[in-house]
Parts: sequence; C-alpha cells; structure tokens
Amino acid sequence: MEGQEPQAKRQNFSGEHLASYSNRDGEADEKHYFKTYSDLYVHEEMLRDFERTSKYRSAIMENSHLLNGKVVADIGAGTGILSCFCAQAGAKKVYAIEGSDAAEHARRVVQSNNLEDCITVIHGMVEECQLPEKVDVIVSEWMGYFLMYESMLSSVLYAREQWLKPDGVMLPSHASIFVAPVRADNFWEDRVNCWSRMKDAYGVDMSCLTDVVMRTTLRSVQVVQLDGEDIIGDSTCVLSLDLKSTTQSDLEKLVGTFKCQCHCSAPLHGLGVWFVVTFPGKPPVLLSTSPYAVSTHWRQCVLFLNAPTNVVQDDIVEGSLTLSPCDESQG
Ligand code: SAH
Repeated sequence: MEGQEPQAKRQNFSGEHLASYSNRDGEADEKHYFKTYSDLYVHEEMLRDFERTSKYRSAIMENSHLLNGKVVADIGAGTGILSCFCAQAGAKKVYAIEGSDAAEHARRVVQSNNLEDCITVIHGMVEECQLPEKVDVIVSEWMGYFLMYESMLSSVLYAREQWLKPDGVMLPSHASIFVAPVRADNFWEDRVNCWSRMKDAYGVDMSCLTDVVMRTTLRSVQVVQLDGEDIIGDSTCVLSLDLKSTTQSDLEKLVGTFKCQCHCSAPLHGLGVWFVVTFPGKPPVLLSTSPYAVSTHWRQCVLFLNAPTNVVQDDIVEGSLTLSPCDESQG
C-alpha cells in the first residue's frame, strides 16, 4: 500500500479517464439499434453464450419462490427465452416486451412451447407501451460492453418506475464494474505493432501511421479478450449499482475511483474493465464477465494509456472512472 511502500511508483490515470457510451440519441440511431436486434444472428450470439444464458436460467429457477404465481415484465425480451424461463419457474403472467422485429420470433417460441396462456408478447418500445397491471418482478438482460454501452439500463429503470410494485424484485438486482491494471500484449501486437511490420510484408514503410492508431483507436474503449495472466495488479470494484434504487439521474454521470497495487514487473498497457451482475439467492447467483471467469460474448474492455509504461511489483495504478451517456454522432 501507498504508505508502506514508499519506493512504489504511481501510475495515475490523468485524473479522469473518461468513457462515454451511446445513448441512442435521435430517431436514426434508434431505428438502427432496433434493426440490429431484428436480425436473428445477434440473438444467436447471445443464446449461444452459454455462460450468459444458463446463468440467467439458474438465477430464475433458483428464485422460483419469487416468481411462482407472480406477474413478470421481461424488458427487451428478444426471442423470448427469459420469459420462457420465468413461465417454467411458475410465473402466473409474463409480459414480454420487445421493440425490434425479434418480437415475432418470440411469439413463435412462446407458441411452440405452449406458453401463450402465460406469456403475452408485446411488440413495442418499453417507453411507449402500457401494461394492464403492476408487476412483481422485472427481468432483463440489458448489459452492454463496459456494462453501460447501449444505455438500455435507462429503459429498465423506466419500466421499474412505471410498473414494479413497491416490494417488487429486479432480476438481476445489482451490477458492478471492476477495473485492474492490464498488459494487453496480443492486442498491442495486432493493432499497433502491425504498422511496423508492413515493410517486411509489402516493402512499404507504414510505421509512420502508428501514431494515428494511438490517437484514434486507442482513445476509445476497446473490447478485448483478456485472461488471468494479463491482469498485473489488484482488481477492484469501481462502481456498484443497486437496480432497485438507481435513478435515471444517477445514470447521467457515474463516477468511481480506484487504486490498484501491481503484482509484478510488466508493461502496463491500460486499465481492464469488466462487470458482474448479481441475482438474489443464498448464495447470490453471479454472472461475471471477469477475465478469471468463463468467457462470455462481452469479453472485457481496455482503456489504453497513451503509451505502455513499465511497472514493477507494488507500484500503484490509480485514478477515477467517469461514465456518461453521449450522442454517438459526437463520438
Ligand atoms: N432478453 C433477450 C434479449 C436481450 S438483448 C435475451 O436475453 O436473449 C436486449 C433486447 O432488448 C433487444 O432485443 C432489444 O431490441 C431490446 N430493447 C432494447 N431497448 C428496448 C426498449 N426500450 N423497448 C423494447 N425493447 C428494447
């Protein structure tokens, strides 16, 4: 720690390392977003992510006492899988709300499983639809890269404000973002050093373009598959959301600080970021996208430093992380 290790070097993430996420501003963004989700391929990717889908299934089945005989809203139902899990866990009624044309796939899935009496598929935006009753449970798989990319959480909070009974339950109930100092040699080799290799491959020196990659690509959040060996220091929880109480205004600006001690001598490329969501239970069911956990389609994200720097054991990497929605058109 800082006081005990006076020789330790500090790597500071220049006060604030800012990551913004799209809030799908404007009609065109919104249309594009729902067009993407109309494509079955996107749903296939999510459904084939066994870790993701089976964790939801376990969480729902293990919480069947919360669902049995209860009314549920599935926010962003996609192909309807979570609604089916809830029906199988004994829900009395499930409203499966889906904004994209995937709602039609959900209808077919519901019919094929003879669940039409329990599940009502509503093809429409959460923000524009009406439910005939309040609900006991809200289930949703709203998480994007970096947790917040896509900004779907705001629609889930809207649904909670509109329909969840005061003693109702959110599934998942909590979400946290973790960070750790990382080396990302493979990524660095592929995306940065490749410019220096063009000369060997094609006889043209293109290494002068390396700085463009550093100024552009590396300034935005990169989705990278990390593994445990890439983590070179403590991982720490930087932000934690209780989904029963988080408000829309909280989402305007989420800020957390971190201080991580390095474990070894290594090149520090940046800060690895991942999330964990938690469902009620004893013990709680966790869906973790940590590099130490089973990999998922979310992989992890890295916020790169301007240039790698060498750290040694006990060096401190510290800073703050600010997440705020931004109009994608503004970058
Ligand atoms: N629940 C499904 C799909 C999750 S992906 C599953 O777990 O497999 C998120 C889904 O939410 C997408 O299909 C997207 O079209 C839908 N969605 C996002 N925002 C929405 C909104 N405001 N209203 C309705 N559907 C929304």
